Amino acid sequence: MYDVVIIGGGPAGLASGVYTSRGGMRTLILEKMAVGGQAVLTEKIENYPGFSDGIGGMELLSRFEQQAKKFGCEIKFEEVKKIERANNKILVSAGEVYESLAVILAVGASPRKLNIPGEKEFTGRGVSYCATCDGPFFRDKTVAVIGGGDSAVEEAIYLTKFAAKVYLIHRRDRLRAAKILQERAFSNKKIEFVWNSVPVEISGENFVEKIFLKNLKTDQNSSLVVNGVFVFAGNIPNTAFLDGFVELDKNGFIIVNGEMKTSQDGFFAAGDCVSKKLYQVVTAAGDGATAAFSAQKFVEELKGIAYD
Ligand code: NAP
Repeated sequence: MYDVVIIGGGPAGLASGVYTSRGGMRTLILEKMAVGGQAVLTEKIENYPGFSDGIGGMELLSRFEQQAKKFGCEIKFEEVKKIERANNKILVSAGEVYESLAVILAVGASPRKLNIPGEKEFTGRGVSYCATCDGPFFRDKTVAVIGGGDSAVEEAIYLTKFAAKVYLIHRRDRLRAAKILQERAFSNKKIEFVWNSVPVEISGENFVEKIFLKNLKTDQNSSLVVNGVFVFAGNIPNTAFLDGFVELDKNGFIIVNGEMKTSQDGFFAAGDCVSKKLYQVVTAAGDGATAAFSAQKFVEELKGIAYD
Protein backbone atom coordinates (compact mmCIF):
# COMPACT_ATOMS: atom_id res chain seq x y z
CA MET A 1 0.00 0.00 0.00
CA TYR A 2 1.39 3.37 -1.03
CA ASP A 3 0.43 6.69 0.50
CA VAL A 4 0.76 8.41 -2.86
CA VAL A 5 1.02 7.10 -6.42
CA ILE A 6 2.18 9.74 -8.90
CA ILE A 7 1.33 9.09 -12.54
CA GLY A 8 3.97 10.64 -14.78
CA GLY A 9 7.68 11.26 -14.23
CA GLY A 10 8.15 14.70 -15.78
CA PRO A 11 9.01 17.89 -13.85
CA ALA A 12 5.63 17.96 -12.06
CA GLY A 13 5.67 14.28 -11.09
CA LEU A 14 9.29 14.33 -9.94
CA ALA A 15 8.80 17.53 -7.93
CA SER A 16 5.74 15.92 -6.28
CA GLY A 17 7.90 12.88 -5.55
CA VAL A 18 10.57 15.00 -3.88
CA TYR A 19 7.96 16.59 -1.61
CA THR A 20 5.86 13.53 -0.69
CA SER A 21 8.93 11.32 -0.10
CA ARG A 22 10.67 13.97 1.93
CA GLY A 23 7.41 14.33 3.86
CA GLY A 24 7.65 10.67 4.85
CA MET A 25 4.90 9.44 2.49
CA ARG A 26 5.48 6.07 0.82
CA THR A 27 5.55 7.19 -2.81
CA LEU A 28 5.60 5.49 -6.19
CA ILE A 29 6.03 7.25 -9.53
CA LEU A 30 4.67 5.33 -12.53
CA GLU A 31 6.21 6.49 -15.81
CA LYS A 32 5.36 4.90 -19.14
CA MET A 33 8.50 5.84 -21.10
CA ALA A 34 11.45 7.78 -19.69
CA VAL A 35 11.82 10.06 -16.72
CA GLY A 36 11.91 13.81 -17.40
CA GLY A 37 8.98 14.39 -19.76
CA GLN A 38 9.12 16.75 -22.73
CA ALA A 39 11.63 19.01 -20.94
CA VAL A 40 14.47 16.55 -21.56
CA LEU A 41 14.12 17.30 -25.27
CA THR A 42 15.15 20.93 -24.69
CA GLU A 43 18.82 21.56 -25.33
CA LYS A 44 19.01 24.44 -22.85
CA ILE A 45 16.53 25.78 -20.30
CA GLU A 46 17.45 29.35 -19.44
CA ASN A 47 14.49 30.46 -17.32
CA TYR A 48 14.65 27.91 -14.51
CA PRO A 49 15.73 29.97 -11.50
CA GLY A 50 19.18 29.27 -10.13
CA PHE A 51 20.94 28.54 -13.42
CA SER A 52 21.92 31.91 -14.86
CA ASP A 53 23.84 30.31 -17.75
CA GLY A 54 20.96 27.91 -18.44
CA ILE A 55 21.00 24.16 -17.92
CA GLY A 56 20.36 21.27 -20.31
CA GLY A 57 16.86 19.79 -20.01
CA MET A 58 18.30 16.29 -19.53
CA GLU A 59 20.71 17.48 -16.83
CA LEU A 60 18.04 19.41 -14.91
CA LEU A 61 15.52 16.60 -14.94
CA SER A 62 18.06 13.97 -13.98
CA ARG A 63 18.78 16.14 -10.91
CA PHE A 64 15.03 16.15 -10.11
CA GLU A 65 15.06 12.34 -10.39
CA GLN A 66 18.11 11.90 -8.15
CA GLN A 67 16.59 14.19 -5.54
CA ALA A 68 13.28 12.27 -5.49
CA LYS A 69 15.12 8.93 -5.20
CA LYS A 70 17.35 10.30 -2.45
CA PHE A 71 14.27 10.77 -0.28
CA GLY A 72 13.07 7.24 -1.01
CA CYS A 73 10.68 7.77 -3.93
CA GLU A 74 10.28 4.60 -6.02
CA ILE A 75 10.06 4.88 -9.81
CA LYS A 76 8.65 2.11 -12.03
CA PHE A 77 8.34 2.10 -15.80
CA GLU A 78 4.79 0.96 -16.42
CA GLU A 79 1.86 2.45 -18.31
CA VAL A 80 -1.28 3.08 -16.28
CA LYS A 81 -4.31 1.41 -17.89
CA LYS A 82 -7.04 1.93 -15.33
CA ILE A 83 -7.77 3.74 -12.09
CA GLU A 84 -10.64 2.82 -9.78
CA ARG A 85 -11.82 3.46 -6.28
CA ALA A 86 -12.29 0.77 -3.66
CA ASN A 87 -13.67 2.39 -0.52
CA ASN A 88 -10.88 4.57 0.91
CA LYS A 89 -8.27 3.07 -1.39
CA ILE A 90 -7.44 3.83 -4.99
CA LEU A 91 -6.43 0.98 -7.28
CA VAL A 92 -4.00 1.94 -10.05
CA SER A 93 -3.65 -0.77 -12.69
CA ALA A 94 -0.36 -0.69 -14.58
CA GLY A 95 2.05 -3.67 -14.87
CA GLU A 96 0.53 -4.71 -11.53
CA VAL A 97 -2.29 -3.27 -9.47
CA TYR A 98 -1.03 -0.73 -6.92
CA GLU A 99 -3.05 0.37 -3.91
CA SER A 100 -2.77 3.94 -2.78
CA LEU A 101 -4.54 6.45 -0.56
CA ALA A 102 -3.97 9.38 -2.94
CA VAL A 103 -3.01 9.88 -6.58
CA ILE A 104 -1.23 12.80 -8.24
CA LEU A 105 -1.92 13.05 -11.97
CA ALA A 106 1.17 14.47 -13.66
CA VAL A 107 0.58 12.90 -17.07
CA GLY A 108 1.86 15.81 -19.17
CA ALA A 109 1.03 16.57 -22.79
CA SER A 110 2.09 15.47 -26.27
CA PRO A 111 2.86 17.47 -29.42
CA ARG A 112 -0.20 18.49 -31.42
CA LYS A 113 -0.21 17.07 -34.94
CA LEU A 114 -1.05 19.16 -38.00
CA ASN A 115 -3.25 16.39 -39.46
CA ILE A 116 -2.36 17.24 -43.05
CA PRO A 117 -1.53 14.85 -45.91
CA GLY A 118 2.07 13.67 -45.77
CA GLU A 119 2.60 14.40 -42.06
CA LYS A 120 2.12 10.83 -40.86
CA GLU A 121 3.76 9.23 -43.92
CA PHE A 122 6.94 11.32 -43.55
CA THR A 123 7.26 11.19 -39.75
CA GLY A 124 10.80 9.92 -39.21
CA ARG A 125 11.58 10.68 -42.87
CA GLY A 126 11.83 14.44 -42.57
CA VAL A 127 8.87 15.29 -40.34
CA SER A 128 9.89 15.69 -36.72
CA TYR A 129 8.55 17.00 -33.40
CA CYS A 130 11.98 17.21 -31.72
CA ALA A 131 14.78 19.49 -32.91
CA THR A 132 17.23 18.25 -30.27
CA CYS A 133 16.73 14.66 -31.44
CA ASP A 134 16.71 15.20 -35.21
CA GLY A 135 18.36 18.60 -35.86
CA PRO A 136 21.85 17.13 -36.50
CA PHE A 137 20.46 15.13 -39.49
CA PHE A 138 19.78 18.42 -41.30
CA ARG A 139 23.30 19.81 -41.52
CA ASP A 140 23.48 22.32 -44.43
CA LYS A 141 19.90 21.49 -45.39
CA THR A 142 16.71 23.57 -45.54
CA VAL A 143 13.98 23.01 -42.99
CA ALA A 144 10.57 24.45 -42.16
CA VAL A 145 9.40 25.07 -38.61
CA ILE A 146 5.66 25.32 -37.98
CA GLY A 147 4.27 27.47 -35.14
CA GLY A 148 4.79 30.85 -33.51
CA GLY A 149 5.10 29.94 -29.82
CA ASP A 150 8.15 29.60 -27.55
CA SER A 151 8.91 26.09 -28.80
CA ALA A 152 8.78 26.95 -32.51
CA VAL A 153 10.97 30.04 -32.14
CA GLU A 154 13.43 28.48 -29.68
CA GLU A 155 13.80 25.36 -31.80
CA ALA A 156 14.08 27.35 -35.05
CA ILE A 157 17.04 29.19 -33.52
CA TYR A 158 18.53 25.88 -32.36
CA LEU A 159 18.12 24.39 -35.85
CA THR A 160 20.22 27.19 -37.38
CA LYS A 161 23.21 25.48 -35.71
CA PHE A 162 22.85 22.78 -38.35
CA ALA A 163 20.59 23.86 -41.20
CA ALA A 164 21.63 26.30 -43.92
CA LYS A 165 18.15 27.85 -43.89
CA VAL A 166 15.12 27.71 -41.62
CA TYR A 167 11.66 28.89 -42.73
CA LEU A 168 9.48 29.76 -39.77
CA ILE A 169 5.89 29.37 -40.92
CA HIS A 170 3.26 30.96 -38.72
CA ARG A 171 -0.46 31.40 -39.21
CA ARG A 172 -0.48 34.98 -37.89
CA ASP A 173 1.53 38.12 -38.70
CA ARG A 174 3.26 38.21 -35.31
CA LEU A 175 4.68 35.69 -32.90
CA ARG A 176 3.26 34.33 -29.67
CA ALA A 177 6.77 33.58 -28.32
CA ALA A 178 8.53 35.54 -25.55
CA LYS A 179 10.09 38.85 -26.72
CA ILE A 180 13.65 37.73 -25.98
CA LEU A 181 13.22 34.74 -28.31
CA GLN A 182 11.58 36.91 -30.99
CA GLU A 183 14.52 39.33 -30.95
CA ARG A 184 17.02 36.50 -31.30
CA ALA A 185 15.06 34.97 -34.18
CA PHE A 186 14.59 38.29 -36.02
CA SER A 187 18.33 38.94 -35.89
CA ASN A 188 19.23 35.45 -37.09
CA LYS A 189 20.10 35.66 -40.80
CA LYS A 190 19.33 31.98 -41.40
CA ILE A 191 15.67 32.34 -40.40
CA GLU A 192 13.12 33.52 -42.95
CA PHE A 193 9.59 34.20 -41.70
CA VAL A 194 6.55 33.12 -43.67
CA TRP A 195 3.57 34.96 -42.16
CA ASN A 196 -0.18 34.32 -42.22
CA SER A 197 0.38 30.85 -43.63
CA VAL A 198 -0.51 27.29 -42.74
CA PRO A 199 0.91 24.08 -44.15
CA VAL A 200 -1.59 22.07 -46.17
CA GLU A 201 0.53 19.18 -47.44
CA ILE A 202 3.98 17.65 -47.14
CA SER A 203 5.32 15.71 -50.10
CA GLY A 204 8.37 13.87 -51.41
CA GLU A 205 9.57 10.51 -52.69
CA ASN A 206 11.31 8.67 -49.86
CA PHE A 207 12.03 11.75 -47.80
CA VAL A 208 10.39 15.18 -47.41
CA GLU A 209 11.02 17.36 -50.47
CA LYS A 210 8.31 20.01 -50.40
CA ILE A 211 5.82 21.72 -48.16
CA PHE A 212 2.66 23.27 -49.59
CA LEU A 213 1.25 26.35 -47.89
CA LYS A 214 -1.90 28.40 -47.92
CA ASN A 215 -1.83 32.11 -47.15
CA LEU A 216 -4.80 32.79 -44.86
CA LYS A 217 -4.99 36.48 -45.85
CA THR A 218 -4.81 36.10 -49.63
CA ASP A 219 -6.03 32.50 -49.96
CA GLN A 220 -3.09 31.90 -52.29
CA ASN A 221 -1.25 28.59 -52.36
CA SER A 222 2.51 28.26 -52.59
CA SER A 223 5.21 25.69 -51.92
CA LEU A 224 8.72 25.62 -50.49
CA VAL A 225 11.50 23.15 -51.23
CA VAL A 226 12.58 21.76 -47.86
CA ASN A 227 14.34 18.68 -46.52
CA GLY A 228 12.59 18.64 -43.18
CA VAL A 229 9.51 19.89 -41.36
CA PHE A 230 9.62 20.49 -37.60
CA VAL A 231 6.18 20.82 -36.04
CA PHE A 232 5.74 22.90 -32.86
CA ALA A 233 2.00 23.58 -32.96
CA GLY A 234 1.41 23.31 -29.21
CA ASN A 235 0.49 20.38 -27.02
CA ILE A 236 -2.51 18.26 -26.20
CA PRO A 237 -2.88 16.85 -22.67
CA ASN A 238 -2.46 13.10 -22.14
CA THR A 239 -5.77 12.87 -20.31
CA ALA A 240 -8.04 10.84 -22.63
CA PHE A 241 -7.99 7.91 -20.20
CA LEU A 242 -9.26 10.21 -17.43
CA ASP A 243 -12.33 11.48 -19.28
CA GLY A 244 -15.38 10.99 -17.08
CA PHE A 245 -13.22 10.25 -14.05
CA VAL A 246 -11.98 13.77 -13.26
CA GLU A 247 -13.41 16.98 -14.66
CA LEU A 248 -11.61 18.23 -17.78
CA ASP A 249 -11.91 21.58 -19.57
CA LYS A 250 -13.06 21.78 -23.21
CA ASN A 251 -9.50 21.14 -24.42
CA GLY A 252 -9.01 18.11 -22.20
CA PHE A 253 -6.88 19.76 -19.49
CA ILE A 254 -7.62 18.74 -15.88
CA ILE A 255 -9.52 21.33 -13.85
CA VAL A 256 -7.92 21.92 -10.43
CA ASN A 257 -8.41 24.40 -7.61
CA GLY A 258 -5.63 26.44 -5.99
CA GLU A 259 -4.60 23.40 -3.94
CA MET A 260 -4.26 21.31 -7.13
CA LYS A 261 -7.28 19.21 -6.14
CA THR A 262 -9.28 17.70 -8.98
CA SER A 263 -13.04 17.06 -8.97
CA GLN A 264 -12.40 13.54 -7.58
CA ASP A 265 -11.62 13.17 -3.88
CA GLY A 266 -8.05 11.98 -3.30
CA PHE A 267 -6.91 12.95 -6.81
CA PHE A 268 -4.58 15.88 -7.36
CA ALA A 269 -2.99 17.09 -10.60
CA ALA A 270 0.09 19.05 -11.62
CA GLY A 271 2.05 20.30 -14.62
CA ASP A 272 1.24 20.38 -18.34
CA CYS A 273 -1.93 18.26 -18.02
CA VAL A 274 -3.59 20.94 -15.87
CA SER A 275 -5.83 23.75 -17.14
CA LYS A 276 -3.84 26.94 -16.45
CA LYS A 277 -2.14 29.94 -18.07
CA LEU A 278 1.59 29.27 -17.88
CA TYR A 279 3.27 26.02 -18.93
CA GLN A 280 6.90 26.01 -17.81
CA VAL A 281 9.25 23.67 -15.93
CA VAL A 282 9.18 26.06 -13.00
CA THR A 283 5.36 26.15 -12.84
CA ALA A 284 5.21 22.35 -13.24
CA ALA A 285 7.58 22.03 -10.29
CA GLY A 286 5.50 24.52 -8.29
CA ASP A 287 2.27 22.65 -9.10
CA GLY A 288 3.99 19.43 -8.09
CA ALA A 289 4.96 20.84 -4.70
CA THR A 290 1.41 22.11 -4.06
CA ALA A 291 -0.20 18.85 -5.21
CA ALA A 292 2.18 16.91 -2.93
CA PHE A 293 1.35 19.14 0.05
CA SER A 294 -2.39 18.69 -0.55
CA ALA A 295 -2.05 14.94 -1.10
CA GLN A 296 -0.07 14.59 2.12
CA LYS A 297 -2.72 16.50 4.06
CA PHE A 298 -5.43 14.30 2.53
CA VAL A 299 -3.57 11.08 3.47
CA GLU A 300 -2.86 12.27 7.01
CA GLU A 301 -6.53 13.14 7.49
CA LEU A 302 -7.51 9.65 6.28
CA LYS A 303 -5.07 8.15 8.77
CA GLY A 304 -6.29 10.48 11.54
CA ILE A 305 -2.82 11.95 12.07
CA ALA A 306 -3.29 15.39 10.49
CA TYR A 307 -1.78 18.33 12.38
CA ASP A 308 -4.35 21.11 12.09
P1 NAP B 1 2.01 27.14 -27.90
O1 NAP B 1 2.49 28.24 -27.03
O2 NAP B 1 0.65 26.61 -27.73
O3 NAP B 1 2.22 27.60 -29.42
C1 NAP B 1 1.77 26.81 -30.47
C2 NAP B 1 1.91 27.59 -31.76
O4 NAP B 1 1.49 26.78 -32.83
C3 NAP B 1 1.07 28.85 -31.76
O5 NAP B 1 1.80 29.91 -32.32
C4 NAP B 1 -0.13 28.47 -32.61
O6 NAP B 1 -0.65 29.56 -33.33
C5 NAP B 1 0.47 27.46 -33.57
N1 NAP B 1 -0.49 26.45 -34.01
C6 NAP B 1 -1.36 25.74 -33.27
N2 NAP B 1 -2.06 24.89 -34.03
C7 NAP B 1 -1.62 25.05 -35.28
C8 NAP B 1 -1.96 24.47 -36.52
N3 NAP B 1 -2.88 23.49 -36.61
N4 NAP B 1 -1.32 24.87 -37.63
C9 NAP B 1 -0.37 25.84 -37.55
N5 NAP B 1 0.01 26.44 -36.41
C10 NAP B 1 -0.61 26.04 -35.28
O7 NAP B 1 2.96 25.84 -27.79
P2 NAP B 1 4.54 25.72 -27.50
O8 NAP B 1 5.32 26.74 -28.20
O9 NAP B 1 4.85 24.28 -27.73
O10 NAP B 1 4.62 25.99 -25.95
C11 NAP B 1 3.85 25.22 -25.03
C12 NAP B 1 4.03 25.82 -23.64
O11 NAP B 1 5.37 25.59 -23.21
C13 NAP B 1 3.81 27.33 -23.64
O12 NAP B 1 3.20 27.69 -22.44
C14 NAP B 1 5.21 27.89 -23.70
O13 NAP B 1 5.34 29.16 -23.09
C15 NAP B 1 6.00 26.81 -22.93
N6 NAP B 1 7.40 26.80 -23.40
C16 NAP B 1 8.25 27.64 -22.79
C17 NAP B 1 9.56 27.70 -23.21
C18 NAP B 1 10.48 28.64 -22.52
O14 NAP B 1 10.07 29.27 -21.56
N7 NAP B 1 11.72 28.76 -22.94
C19 NAP B 1 10.00 26.90 -24.27
C20 NAP B 1 9.08 26.07 -24.89
C21 NAP B 1 7.77 26.04 -24.46
P3 NAP B 1 -1.41 30.78 -32.58
O15 NAP B 1 -0.34 31.60 -31.95
O16 NAP B 1 -2.13 31.45 -33.69
O17 NAP B 1 -2.33 30.13 -31.59
